[in-house]
Amino acid sequence: MLVFRQLFDATSSTYTYLLGDPASRECVLIDPVFEQVPRDAALVAELGLQLRWVLDTHVHADHVTGAWRLRERLGARIALSARSGASGADRGLEHGDRVEFGKRWLEVCATPGHTAGCLSYVQDDQGRAFTGDCLLIRGCGRTDFQQGDARTMYASVHERLFTLPQACLLYPAHDYRGLTVTSVGEERAFNPRLGGEAGEGDFVGFMNNLGLPHPKQIDVAVPANLRCGEPAGGLVPPVEPDWAQLRYTFGGLWQIEPHELANVATGVQLLDVRESEEFHGPIGHIPGALSLPLGELAARHGELARDRPVVAVCRSGTRSARAVALLQQAGFVDVANLAGGMLRWRAEGGDVVGAGE
Ligand code: FE
Repeated sequence: MLVFRQLFDATSSTYTYLLGDPASRECVLIDPVFEQVPRDAALVAELGLQLRWVLDTHVHADHVTGAWRLRERLGARIALSARSGASGADRGLEHGDRVEFGKRWLEVCATPGHTAGCLSYVQDDQGRAFTGDCLLIRGCGRTDFQQGDARTMYASVHERLFTLPQACLLYPAHDYRGLTVTSVGEERAFNPRLGGEAGEGDFVGFMNNLGLPHPKQIDVAVPANLRCGEPAGGLVPPVEPDWAQLRYTFGGLWQIEPHELANVATGVQLLDVRESEEFHGPIGHIPGALSLPLGELAARHGELARDRPVVAVCRSGTRSARAVALLQQAGFVDVANLAGGMLRWRAEGGDVVGAGE
C-alpha cells in the first residue's frame, strides 16, 4: 500500500503531502513549506524513504515553498508547471506528464484559474488527487490576483476534476477550518460555488464579489517562490544548530548520537537527569556528567552555564527529552538529547564511571 501522510503548517494553514512507494522506498513531497523542512526531512528519514521529487501545485502567495531547502538537504529534484514562471526547477511539467517514484506515479493535470500555472496531481490509481488552490473543500482558491481567472477555474474544475471517479479523494493545499479531505462526488454535489446546479455565470458572480484582503505574505512569498524558495532579499535562511551534528526528529526534538557526543563531549555540559541512586547505580554515568534529577531541574537549571551547549542524558533517552523541552522553555538555545540514553551509550562502547558500585 502507498505510504501517505498529510502534514499541516499552522501559520499558513498549508497542507503538505508525502507519498511513497513501499517497494522502492522512493517518495515525493507536494507543497512543502520553507519553515517545515526540518520536520518533513525528519519524517522522510524516519520512514526510511528517499525523496525523489519536490512538487509544487503552483507559485504560492501565502507561504514560501520548501522546495529549494529540501533539494539542498536531501538531493531531491524540483518540478512544477512549465507555465509557472519560476526559475531554478529541475523539470517543467505539462498536462499529461507523469512524475514517477519507484513503481508509482502522479499524473500532472493542468487546472489553471487560481494562477495560470496551477497543477493538480492525480495518483496513478485515481484514488486521490491533490488539487492545490484550485478546488478546496467546499470552496476554491481565489481568482483575483496572479493571473487568476474565474471562467478558467470553472472549466478546470468541471472538465478536469469533476470528471475523475466519484470516489476519488481530493486533498487541497489549504483549509482554514481544519477540514482534511473531500471527494469528487461530494464536491460535485455540495460545493457551494461550483457544485450542484451552479453554472459558469453563477460562479463568476460569486468570485467577483468575494472582497478578499491582499494576502499578507505575497510580497515576500511570490518573489521567493519564483526562485523555488531559494533565500534572497527579504527571506532569511533559518539558523540551525552547528555546535554538533544533531538530528532533528519528527517528534520535534534535537538529538545527538552517542558517537557524536564522544566527539564533542569536552565542549558541552552533560546533564544527567536520572535519580541520584541511578546515577550511582549499576549502569554508571558518563565521566564529567552533572547529576540533576528531572524533578529538580525546573528549580535548579540556574546551575547550568548558558554559554555552553547542554546534552541531557537519562537511562533510555525518554526523561532527558523532557529535560530538553524544560531547558528550551527556560531559554536555553543549544540543547540536545542523547539518543537512546545510557543504554545506547554503553552498548556503543562509551566511557562509563561509577558502574557496579
Ligand atoms: Fe495559492
